[in-house]
Formats: sequence, C-alpha cells, structure tokens
Amino acid sequence: MTAVDSAPAAADVIELSKLKERNEPIVCMSHLRWNFVFQRPQHLMTRFAKTRPVMVFEEPLPAEPGAAMGVDIRVCADTGVVVVTPRVPDGLEGACRNAVLRQLLDEAISSHGFERPVLWYYTPMMLPIARHVAASAVVYDCMDELANFAFAPPELTTLERELFATADVVFTGGYSLYEAKQDQHDNIHPFPSSVDRAHFAKARQAAAARPERPKLGFFGVIDERMDLAMIDAVAAARPEWDFEIVGPVVKISSEQLPKRPNLTYPGQKSYQDLPACLAAWDVALMPFAINESTRFISPTKTPEYLSAGRPVVSTPIRDVVRHYGDLSGVHIASTPEEFIAGCDQALAQARGDDRAWLEEVDQALTSLSWDQTHLRMAALIDGAVQRNVQPMTATAKRPVAGPAVFPASRRSHYDALVVGAGFAGSVMAERLASQGQRVLVVDRRPHIGGNAYDRLDAAGVLIHQYGPHIFHTNSAEIFDYLSRFTDWRPYEHRVLAQVNDRLVPMPINRTTLNALYGLDLRSDEQAEAFLASRAEPVERIRTSEDVVVNAIGRELYETFFRGYTRKQWGLDPSQLDKSVTARVPTRTNTDDRYFTDAFQAMPLHGYTRMFENMLDRDEIHIETGVEYRDVVDEVAFDRLVFTGPIDEFFDHRYGELPYRSLKFRHETLDQEQFQPVATVNYPLEDTPYTRITEYKHLTGQTHPKTSITYEYPAAEGDPYYPIPRPENQVLFKKYQALADARPEVSFVGRLATYRYYNMDQVTGQALAAWRRLRPLRSSDAAGTTTAARF
Ligand code: FAD
Ligand code: UDP
Repeated sequence: MTAVDSAPAAADVIELSKLKERNEPIVCMSHLRWNFVFQRPQHLMTRFAKTRPVMVFEEPLPAEPGAAMGVDIRVCADTGVVVVTPRVPDGLEGACRNAVLRQLLDEAISSHGFERPVLWYYTPMMLPIARHVAASAVVYDCMDELANFAFAPPELTTLERELFATADVVFTGGYSLYEAKQDQHDNIHPFPSSVDRAHFAKARQAAAARPERPKLGFFGVIDERMDLAMIDAVAAARPEWDFEIVGPVVKISSEQLPKRPNLTYPGQKSYQDLPACLAAWDVALMPFAINESTRFISPTKTPEYLSAGRPVVSTPIRDVVRHYGDLSGVHIASTPEEFIAGCDQALAQARGDDRAWLEEVDQALTSLSWDQTHLRMAALIDGAVQRNVQPMTATAKRPVAGPAVFPASRRSHYDALVVGAGFAGSVMAERLASQGQRVLVVDRRPHIGGNAYDRLDAAGVLIHQYGPHIFHTNSAEIFDYLSRFTDWRPYEHRVLAQVNDRLVPMPINRTTLNALYGLDLRSDEQAEAFLASRAEPVERIRTSEDVVVNAIGRELYETFFRGYTRKQWGLDPSQLDKSVTARVPTRTNTDDRYFTDAFQAMPLHGYTRMFENMLDRDEIHIETGVEYRDVVDEVAFDRLVFTGPIDEFFDHRYGELPYRSLKFRHETLDQEQFQPVATVNYPLEDTPYTRITEYKHLTGQTHPKTSITYEYPAAEGDPYYPIPRPENQVLFKKYQALADARPEVSFVGRLATYRYYNMDQVTGQALAAWRRLRPLRSSDAAGTTTAARF
C-alpha cells in the first residue's frame, strides 16, 4: 500500500541526493499528524530536510477492512520530507501491534536508504516501536509535559524515563519545561517555540481586511486546555465584539463549546491561511485554562500573533508571562474582568496611532527565528553523532558492569560469613554491614550476583549468564530498598509462544484465543464464556495439570503447558505441584504483559553493577571462586549466613534434594534484532529448548549485533530450580529440622530454603531474616526492632 502522492521536483531530487551523502538522515517518530496544524515538528523537519533526508513516521491509522497491513508514503513536493503513515488492522494491540509497527518502520527505513539515522522522538510512546533501530544519535524533542494531558496513557511516564536514559540530546519546548526536566539529562537544552516572522508579517500589510466591528481571535488546537468559561464570559460581556476561534476541536466535544451569536468556530485553517486570518482581527487571544495541562506549555502562537502585529491578551501561562509579559502589547489576565479590560487596552492599541508598543514587540522578536533554532539544534545533534562514532560507543552509551573486583584482604575475625553472593547473600551482607558488622562474602562462582549475574559478551552485548532475569514486584518496600543501589530502566516483559507457525501472546489472553481459533471475541465476558465452554472442572485441584485443565480445558493445556512443562521439569504436569503452572495466569482481556506487578523494571546498568553497589562497603570483603568448605575453618566468625543448597550443607544426610537444571546456549548474531519480543516460548516437545531470549529488548542496549540465549532443560548441572513436589517437601522438612537446630546459621534464599522464589521474594526473605537477627545485637536491645525498617 505504498502511494507517492507527490514527488519532489527534479532539481530538488539532485540537491537532496547530494546532501544525503553529507548528513545523517532523520527519522522522526511523531504522534502529531504531518497534515494537522503546522507547528514545531513541521517547522523543524522542513528545515532539516534542506540539509538531510527526513522521514516522519506517524502514528498508525486503521487499515481499510480487508486490506493488507502496510504504509502510506507521501513525499512532500516542496520540502522532500517523506511522511510514512502505517496502516494496521483495528483491534491489533500490545506486543503484536508493536511487532508489526517495528517491521513496517524497518521496511520504510531500509527501502528509503535511511540506515543509521538520527532517531528523533516527539513522544516516548513510540519507543517500543523504534528503540531497536540502530541510530547514529537519539534526540528527544520534549514539547510538552504529555503526561499531564487528557487521556495520557499510564505507561507514558515510565517510557519517558527510558527515553531520557536513551537519548543523546534532549530539547525542551520552553524554559518552564526545561527547568522541570533539567535534572533528568546532562545534555538538555531549552528551545522555546520560534516564529517564521516573514510569514506572519503578511498580516500587517493586509490591515484593510479588518472589519468595522472589533474582532478578536484565537487559532490553535481547541482542546481541554482552553478556558471555555472565560471565552463564554467575555463574549457575553461584549456583544458588540466578534470572536473567532479557529482550529480543530480535539479530545473535547463540540457540544462543550460556548455558543453565542458573536462567537464563531470556522474550524481548522492551513498554516498558509493564518496570516489572512490574523489580518481580519484587531486582537489575538490566548484564553488557556491555568492547570496541570498548561503548566509547561510554551505556545508557538505568541510570537506568531506578535509578528502579525497584533496585541495579545493571554491568561498567565508561565512561559508567556516570563518571555512576553513585560511587553506593553501583551496583556496578562486571570479573570474574565481582567481579560475584558486587557481586550479594551489591546483594542485601543490596535486601532490607535501610537506604534511604540509594536516597535517594542519587533525589538523583542529579532532574536527569534526557526532558522536559528534549527541551526543550533543541528550543531548539538552533530556533536552527539560525533561522540557516538568514537570507539566503544555501542556499549559506552549505556554503561554496563564488568566483572566485579574487590579487595579481599582477609581479617582474622568477622561478625558474619556469608556463603553465596546472589540476592540472598548480598542483601544479608549489605544489611549486616549497614549496622557496622564486618562481613566476609564467599561464592564458589568467579563472580558476584548469583544467578542474576550479567556481563558483556565478546561482542559487547549485555547478556545474562544464567538465563533471562526480569525484575518485577508488588512490594514498594523491596523496590525502594533495591533502588538504593541502582537506577531503573522501565521494562514490561512480553512473551510470545510459537504455536502452529505463529507467534501468539503468552500468557493466553483474548488476542491469543482470537488468533488461534479465528474468533472475534471482543469483551472479557465473551472470552470468559469461551474459556468456560472449554474448561473441564476438576473437583480437587492438586497438580499443575489440574490447575490448567480446570481453567481452560485440555486442548489449550496441551498446546501451551504440557510439552513446555515436561521439557522444563522432566516431569508431567500431573506430577508437579499446582503452584508451578499457576505462576502463569490466563486472561480474558488483551493485556499481553507477562507480569502484572506494580513495579517492573530492569537495573539501568545491569544486575552486576547493582550488586557491586550493594557490596561496595568497607565492612564487606568478598572472595569469589571460593568454596565454603575451603574457608570455614580458616576464618573466625560469629554468624553464618548460608544461601547454597541446604542438603549440601548437611552433607546430604537424608539424600539429595532434587533440583532441575538448565544448559544455556548463548549466541551472538550479526543482525540488530532477532525476534519481536524479549522471549519466545517453544511449548512443543519436538523443540528441545523451552525458550529463546534476546537481551537487547530487556536492556535497551543499542548495538549493531544482537545476543540470544536458548534454554535447554537438564537433569544434571547447577541446581537452579527446587522441584515443587509433595515428597520433596517432606525431604526438605527433614533438612529444615536440622537447620532449626542451628540458630547461629541463617538459611536464606532459593536453594537454602528450597523454594521456587523470584528475585524479589528472595530479597524480601533476606530482609526479613535480617530483621529477625537484629534483636540479637546488644546495641539494638533498647528495642526499635518491631518498627524497624531498613
Ligand atoms: P543464587 O542466585 O543461586 O545465589 C546463590 C549463590 O551461592 C550462587 O552464586 C552459588 O554459586 C553460591 N553458592 C552455593 N553454594 C556455595 C558454596 N558451598 N560455597 C560457595 N558458594 C556457594 N527471578 C525473577 O525474579 N525473575 C526472573 O525473570 C527470573 N528468571 C530466572 C531464570 C532462570 C533461568 C533461573 C534459574 C532463575 C530465575 N529467577 C528469576 C530466579 C532467581 O534467579 C532467583 O530468585 C535468585 O537468583 C535467587 O537468589 P539466591 O541468592 O537465593 O540464589
Ligand atoms: N509454562 C508452560 N508454558 C509456557 C510458560 C510456562 O507450561 O509457555 C509452565 C512451566 O511449567 C513453567 C511454569 O509454567 O515452569 C512457570 O513459568 P514461569 O515463566 O513462571 O517460569 P520461570 O522461568 O520464571 O521459572
């Protein structure tokens, strides 16, 4: 569905092709339609298009019923800007929609030769579509506090945080916005909206167009930011004046607009027609409501109105007051009475002979021009591109941890010996050290971090050595605690399952059902009814088979759960505790996130860096590559924290507790992206691995190559998963009884408590174990322990 509406003239083609060799192209991800009102993105992109190829990738429109997905492409005749409008079917949502859009973006980029572009964002909401693009630099032109706008999606804030972390340079649409955001980036610059003065000055020559009755006007988007009550009150108070409110009505209903005989709404006009519009007005208005949605706006129309030689009456928008409030041609008014008084004065200026106010305006505007703004921005972008072409840039953009190196000068006596430097051991060590205790941490592996250890591979891609670890928790306390040691990259995990040669969301949701069965279930109720019709009620739910069959029936169970579980655990789901498959819910909505926890994020610089920060204390000594048994008789310590396998600690006295293991096959591919989401599950038994994970989705790293990991379940190898079965619990209880008889030893963590725990649960368990220890300390005897928090 590629349509070229208009093509650049031949001379333009030659000029553009020459320029293309010199400057990186720009791919601009914009939520604003190119053909909507002509504002900041259009001003900037048309100027950039004079010196480099520019593509604007808009938000998608619905594909025509029955038509294939694709893109509409227009090349603007006057500027050469390539405008790409994706078309996707209505109802395509979440990861599938993003995967499709990513593909359409990739095709548009490669078919136009826009490789390694400067990636320019107007909205963080486009990150999931474009974050994989290998960019020569990433620019965020932050025009507004979008999160304050009506209908702002909840993920906007987290995505914006990610964009701030990813961007090489950030521009803000005004000073107030700059002040609000300046701490979030070290290369951030305010660029208040500028003005094409010559264009608007045309209104001055056409003064004869002015009617006899005073006419006051506004142009711009008419949305929730307008103070409609103010407009109504002013129009009611001055029936002898005419008011023209020009622009598209967005997000609010036309019904809400005040109706008066002297109030007209002629709809949207083109940028070309605005000077003529202004020519017919005496006074230009900015009746914005003063609230959260207008707190950071820097209205482009202020300098446009003034360039047209019109006095302005505005409500006290901060950036208007700050930059233009001192001009005698700009009247700031908070109440309808003040607004009317401002209009009276402005009318007198517009119709009077005294031009001093206009000279003052012209003086103030001389330094403003979109051309200047464009040149300054271009210089900042070139600087960012230059920095990125230095060696190491693929990794240096997002600093990641190398192997931990800590001094290990051993003391003769420690308050605590901690065995294991994973979550359990590291949290315990940090907490004990925070009380001034001296701690020796040993781990038999050559690194800290336990199973969550991540590292750069040979290609410089950050990978998880022991398979993908995604952090998620509902506990603010645990999240806050870990936040002391790391910043976060917002990340919501999405998984697709490969079934019948297609990728469908997992956990099963409405999209999965519609895709698999060719259905059109539109509501939770319909999906629920469908599942109920397939479910096979089980009287007493005990096993992992019962829990799934009871909820969704045998067919879906066999498609998604039986094979995967048999591979993963070497056991049939009927032999596993119900808690195993119960980890994966079934949904009747279209939420395609793997987890629904309140906090979902990845440590910004990786897990290993987080552990380094946690353990980097004078009180803590670390020895990696050291076996507990080899040090236990060499060092003196008061307390032992053991986070290894509990059966091993007691020399397998009652026999071995069963663990499931995995073999990991790590690969680096000479391509930027391998699969549409971080993890693809392979639930069928004829595929030997359970899943493939591509790390760049998790880490947000920009790199021309990509690294993936296949997971092959195994009976032998490192103990990764305690196996939840009743007889294993019985055996564990026997070891636990031995542990209970050793109060000087704390058994903490997945292996020492034989629990199929996630990272956050282990963190919580360790914090609780530490709290239980505190009363033992004489210094705590005064007893604040019950209320104690870390
Ligand atoms: P570990 O991380 O296993 O740390 C124990 C440490 O003790 C090890 O480093 C070990 O070398 C050391 N040790 C043991 N015995 C000795 C000894 N005798 N002497 C010296 N050192 C010893 N959780 C999530 O929340 N999200 C996920 O996405 C997730 N994905 C996972 C994927 C895989 C493939 C696996 C295996 C686990 C995953 N987990 C996930 C779970 C997560 O790994 C654990 O919750 C967490 O690592 C447990 O921390 P821990 O400190 O208890 O154990
Ligand atoms: N599971 C499955 N099919 C899938 C995903 C999970 O059968 O596509 C089952 C499997 O038994 C797995 C369990 O659900 O061990 C829990 O899955 P989860 O993703 O929580 O496992 P993790 O990898 O986090 O241990």
